[in-house]
Amino acid sequence: MVYTEDKIKSALELINNSKEIVIISHKSPDGDSIGSSIALYYYLKAKKANVTMCHPDNAPNFLNWMTGTDDILTLESDEDHVNEKMAKADLIFLLDFNTSGRIGKLDTILEETTAKRIMIDHHREPNLNFADLIFSDIQSCSTAQLIYEFIEASNDLDLLDRNIAQAIYTGIITDTGSFRFSSVQPKTHRIAASLLDLNIDHSTIHESLFDSNSENRIRLVSYTMLEKLVINRDLHTAYISLNKAELERFTAEKGDTEGLVNQALSIEGIKMAVFFKESDGIIKISFRSIGKIPVNEMAKNNFGGGGHLNAAGGKFVGKLTDAIDSFVTILPKFVNNNKSTFE
Ligand code: 5GP
Ligand code: MN
Repeated sequence: MVYTEDKIKSALELINNSKEIVIISHKSPDGDSIGSSIALYYYLKAKKANVTMCHPDNAPNFLNWMTGTDDILTLESDEDHVNEKMAKADLIFLLDFNTSGRIGKLDTILEETTAKRIMIDHHREPNLNFADLIFSDIQSCSTAQLIYEFIEASNDLDLLDRNIAQAIYTGIITDTGSFRFSSVQPKTHRIAASLLDLNIDHSTIHESLFDSNSENRIRLVSYTMLEKLVINRDLHTAYISLNKAELERFTAEKGDTEGLVNQALSIEGIKMAVFFKESDGIIKISFRSIGKIPVNEMAKNNFGGGGHLNAAGGKFVGKLTDAIDSFVTILPKFVNNNKSTFE
């Protein structure tokens, strides 16, 4: 149980004694980083705290509909304001990440503050020196679920409202592939049920998240699958890549490549899928797997990244083709070292 009575008491004391609270989360925001931030934001507001959300970059369109996204200050759009809020903060919540490498330039700003830190997260291998209070549960399907449990452990479930419920629900469904992944626990469904009791419109939430594709995005996805998919049947692996010119051809926006790697993974017989995406000066790599194949190790040992057992990410500095070559070279050994998980 991450929320022991002692630790919750300390957290509530920190909240009550703080004049300015800031919530930060990781770069390349996803449904869980945004959902958990907004949920905690409205909860702390309901507790009359003075609270601000400061993220490295803006939310993608498929998340922008959520009540609360307009209140997120970002380094990308509003650097001065973020600097000001971070400097004034006496308490900072770190949500959905556990090392400084995940927050881009916000890291330098965080290092300059003397604020107390509370981390709530579900990623593996948390840096235990990163915060004053750490609520880390790597079994948890999402940070959003952990926020629900934080509110519950604080005896504040009566403060849950529709905005908080909608944000937690979004975090849970985006991080669990709509209740599919093995990280889903019986309590995940119990929590979801209690969120539906607050009259959130789950059907509209799913539609906003998954059925609001632009024409460009659908064409980009189709192009990628038709022209860029490489399958290695012997090694049960599929990979795809997109260079800058291709992304520009389909005027790809933030979030447009989300889920591509999962489509590659959905092919029968494929147990690991990888997506290489060229962006300014670096190649961002997304790994997905099924069963016990540890893509987090692949990301950590070879591409300066990490993540979860079945969903991880990393980067490569250099050319896209070199990133792919490097992966293709490493792959046979990785499959061999993890033979039993590929069978
Ligand atoms: P995605 O492929 O969606 O960008 O990332 C999947 C998961 O991998 C994320 O939820 C996050 O846990 C992890 N991840 C992605 N990029 C990085 C990275 O650069 N470093 C680390 N440590 N984890 C990452
Ligand atoms: Mn998460």
